[in-house]
Amino acid sequence: GLEGAVPIFKAADVVIERSPTFSAKPEVTTLVFGNVFTDHMLTVEWTGDEGWKKPHIRPFHNLSVHPASSALHYAVQLFEGMKAYWGQDGRVRLFRPMLNMKRMLKSAERACLPSFDGEELLECIRKLVETDQDWVPRSDSASLYIRPVLIGTEPSLGVKKPSRALLYVILSPVGSYFSTSTKPLSLWADPKYIRAWKGGTGDCKMGGNYGNSIYAQYEAAAYGCQQVLWLYGEDHQITEAGTMNLFLHWINEDGEEELATPPLDGVILPGITRQSIIELAQKWGEFKVSERSITMAHLERALKENRVMELFGSGTACVVSPVGHIMYQGKSLHLPWQENTPRLSSRLLKELTDIQYGRIPSDWSFLV
Ligand code: PMP
Repeated sequence: GLEGAVPIFKAADVVIERSPTFSAKPEVTTLVFGNVFTDHMLTVEWTGDEGWKKPHIRPFHNLSVHPASSALHYAVQLFEGMKAYWGQDGRVRLFRPMLNMKRMLKSAERACLPSFDGEELLECIRKLVETDQDWVPRSDSASLYIRPVLIGTEPSLGVKKPSRALLYVILSPVGSYFSTSTKPLSLWADPKYIRAWKGGTGDCKMGGNYGNSIYAQYEAAAYGCQQVLWLYGEDHQITEAGTMNLFLHWINEDGEEELATPPLDGVILPGITRQSIIELAQKWGEFKVSERSITMAHLERALKENRVMELFGSGTACVVSPVGHIMYQGKSLHLPWQENTPRLSSRLLKELTDIQYGRIPSDWSFLV
């Protein structure tokens, strides 16, 4: 390659420039998702001719990009979302971060953005989190959200594969995702809006999937609901809720206790929490675990026949979050959620957060 650039970037080449000033750290209780950022960020530039430049950890700064950049015009971009957790033992951990790296590489391929070595990016992220480790909230209800982004910076209006790109990572201390985290969620379901479709990009973490969901989110709020329940197809298949995967714990049509979640058929974002819940429940071996289609008709019939134990969402932000009711076709469907009954979502929440905060040892933990 040419001087100063290599086809892939390496964590060993990271250039660290420490911030001469430090921002005040917010109180954990006042944290609103994604409003505050740490003192440093990671940047890595790429050009088609020269490949990746050296990664830089620098003071947090505004970007300077060409106004024609393809990320700004045609949403040639993607992102990831993961967290660093502070443990009682004073160690900071990430949760299965290689799965985020793999998902990011899949999104990059779909977006025609450059590939990279996931292990090397993870090591760069580890160094960034280490640099800003004082920002990891000393709390087991808060964490440091990690937002890797890859944007096309092609300085041309052509709709084409970008010849320039920028990968960067910013960090934000976050509290609990939902302000009503102890109360069950309310969902609004209307098939007139579609989040993702087969052959589209819903199974990749690309910004366009999220920007175009905001309108429906406001309609849900106007109906007094917290999140959109995204339906798909003529038969109103349940897909996801807001930015969470969904699980139904029920007695299925064949009378079997089952934990069911929609299959990765192209319209579902393959959540790391989703995968972890499936793997945990399979390991427990106490009930059937299925990736299968669930329609609104299945759910309504099961509710009528008292076969539903719980419906809950899963994701990095909330871990797991039970659903209390769904507004659908003028009806309000009530899920059998009760505060003090033993629920699968509570058990999963405990198991997953015990691993994330290092209270139990696990090979899913990645030490910073
Ligand atoms: N679905 C969507 C649409 C999402 O954006 C996310 C958040 N990445 C999830 C599900 C949950 O994925 P994860 O468990 O990896 O956070």
